[in-house]
Amino acid sequence: MGHTAVERPPASSKEVSERMRRVRQRDTAPELRLRSELHRRGLRYRVDASVSGIPRKRVDILFSSARLAVYVDGCFWHSCPEHGLIPRANREWWTHKLAAVQRRDAEATTVLEAAGWKVVRVWEHEDPAEAADAVVAALAVGTPSAV
Ligand SMILES: [Zn+2]
Repeated sequence: MGHTAVERPPASSKEVSERMRRVRQRDTAPELRLRSELHRRGLRYRVDASVSGIPRKRVDILFSSARLAVYVDGCFWHSCPEHGLIPRANREWWTHKLAAVQRRDAEATTVLEAAGWKVVRVWEHEDPAEAADAVVAALAVGTPSAV
């Protein structure tokens, strides 16, 4: 999920620590919903997978032969335009932290695309069926027919 190494903020509010506890889990509910929808459609993939030749980048849902990397981004950590917010307490710390997450996301996308991978990013608030449609569309585009 790209946020496993995030340390705790200083003197966090109850609301923030609640939110952090939720998003720090692996296999988050939105990711599980998308994964089961993809599975239901007969698609097979690797989970929380590393990409060969690209060190230190893990991918939430990886389609190796199609060279497609899917990320399910949490609205809080990845600053969703609809639901992202910077907690009032420790605002400066959070501004810095959340900006760093966005930089890391952008860097991962750039590195993967430069290596010939397609990248699909899905917000955790997105409908799993619509997200699965986007994944299927990405799988269909540019997939070599003879693999
Ligand atoms: Zn959102």
